Amino acid sequence: MPTEIRSNRPPLIWSVLTNRCPRCRKGHLFVNDNPYHLSTTMHMPEHCPVCGQRFELQTGFYFGTGFVSYGMSVFLLGLVFILWAVIKGLSYKDNSIFWCLGLGIVALLILQPVLQRLARSIWITFFVKYDKNWQSHKGSSEIFS
Ligand SMILES: [Zn+2]
Repeated sequence: MPTEIRSNRPPLIWSVLTNRCPRCRKGHLFVNDNPYHLSTTMHMPEHCPVCGQRFELQTGFYFGTGFVSYGMSVFLLGLVFILWAVIKGLSYKDNSIFWCLGLGIVALLILQPVLQRLARSIWITFFVKYDKNWQSHKGSSEIFS
């Protein structure tokens, strides 16, 4: 009977949603845990405090997060639209579509710090893979590792 080896690898989805380093899945991507501390919302350490992974892989690395952020914004607006249609109902005969759009815009504005961080977390996870042996070669900053 095979023995099941329990991995202590944190799950990918947890790592992305909690803004952890994709290489060790333990170190925080951002200096301040609170995304609503607006003066430090996007401040990231240069290297992972746990494994030493570089967070800015090349100059302008995070420009691509605009694509991720756009996708998440469209998804959120679609979600608000669907929830509004199911709960309140939409009609062209009244101005409910404008209330729905207004709610979507307000939700986007309020969630913007969280979405920006999540976009960076998703973006860096595309390029830096989990390294189960990160403890044996700390400080490596290879792209596509
Ligand atoms: Zn790390």
